[in-house]
Amino acid sequence: MNTRLHYLGTAARIIEPVQHLAILTCMDARVDVSALLGLRPGDAHVIRNAGGRASSDALRALAISQAVMHTREVMVIHHTDCALGRFSQAQLNEQITMASGHGFAEELGCFTDPIQAIVEDIERLRACPYLPARDKVRGFIYDLTSNVVTEVPAPDRIPT
Ligand code: ZN
Repeated sequence: MNTRLHYLGTAARIIEPVQHLAILTCMDARVDVSALLGLRPGDAHVIRNAGGRASSDALRALAISQAVMHTREVMVIHHTDCALGRFSQAQLNEQITMASGHGFAEELGCFTDPIQAIVEDIERLRACPYLPARDKVRGFIYDLTSNVVTEVPAPDRIPT
């Protein structure tokens, strides 16, 4: 028996996320998004990158999530003590360059104001023409110390 499929149960047979939800969050190992939201296998798409930023790659993944897998809601979840807020773009570029031995100068999405970063990502998603469902894009900050998730209010105007 395939133990993984046995574990997934009915979720293994349903390709579309049961909750019609996609989550964009940080790769930080301390963020256990499934435990945080009580998600089970099959419930949601989880897209992760450094900072949980609405990068071009994240937007592509969300476009597939919505158009092909029919998710209809996006949660952007950033967190406190994020490396992209603790280091500057220049510092990270230097560290990657030093560690790899190759000059690195790509945009990494560093930020100084974590709340503003969430608002920017919400606006970027709401402005993305390739996302058919942009009316339920919400942003949240996860406080690692208190283990509490708080919604970040964002401008409610949806660009066309
Ligand atoms: Zn982070």
